[in-house]
Amino acid sequence: MAAQALAVAASHDGYSAIAFPFFGAERRGAPVLAFTRFGEERLRVRTQVYEPHFVVVLDESLVETVDVLAGLRPGGMVIVNTTRAPDRLVLSKKAKSATVDATTIALKHTKQAAVNTAMLGAFAKATGLITLEGVEAGIMEVFGRRLSKEIADRNVAAARAAYEATRLGEGDSGRVYAKATKWLPTAQELPPGLATPPMETPFGRVGVGSSPSNLTGGWRVNKPVLDGAECTNCLLCWFYCPDGSITRGEKIVEIHYEYCKGCGICAAVCAPKAIHMEREIEEEVKA
Ligand code: SF4
Ligand code: SF4
Repeated sequence: MAAQALAVAASHDGYSAIAFPFFGAERRGAPVLAFTRFGEERLRVRTQVYEPHFVVVLDESLVETVDVLAGLRPGGMVIVNTTRAPDRLVLSKKAKSATVDATTIALKHTKQAAVNTAMLGAFAKATGLITLEGVEAGIMEVFGRRLSKEIADRNVAAARAAYEATRLGEGDSGRVYAKATKWLPTAQELPPGLATPPMETPFGRVGVGSSPSNLTGGWRVNKPVLDGAECTNCLLCWFYCPDGSITRGEKIVEIHYEYCKGCGICAAVCAPKAIHMEREIEEEVKA
């Protein structure tokens, strides 16, 4: 939706524009790509963008595992949702960078950690290619039409705040990424009717029964905090946790942060309010 809103914003400012997403694993929290192409000429290329002028990273944890600068054109810029200042980013090479704490801004204005519209405001500020008015028009059209005017208004407020808070600088070099290796059998290599068999790969165990070795707690924005004195051991949170991150104890339940993805379901179902959600911030860098 943000890629679409960016295309609408660019159109509002007089460019030709197209946008489309590319989905990988279809589950919430999985990394996805979306592309927006805009320019003064009529656009005839409708492929994915392999050599972008700008890369917008909505989740900082991606920088640790994916070389977000791969393909970035010389002089291009990366715009990252992070609490860090631009010169505290460690990338595969030096690059023009812009940063904004879009998560805090989104939580404040939209009450959700959906940072895409805040990042549109950051894009407008960092690149100067589109106006804040264009971004607002894009958000109102795309989010207002699909969701509601009230939600669109809140997202416009997030974009405005991010526009003001975006910092410009240069990210540092030094991050080295593991070379991509083929680690899963293709569909053609698997015997018909079988799921991926358990096996060790350079990235850990995969296949049936491998989930305990995949620590998914790093995906979290908010973490559940348990007040043991309030817990009645009703086990509703244990029952509803979609990740099996809560186990039963003698008197109260236990939350396993190495797996908890911070969905907040446990806090929502806990009648005595023994669990509340807290923002988890690794590092805060003041402007
Ligand atoms: S839902 Fe609340 S009261 Fe029930 S076990 Fe979980 S934390 Fe305790
Ligand atoms: S927030 Fe609660 S329900 Fe969601 S994954 Fe974590 S422990 Fe489970």
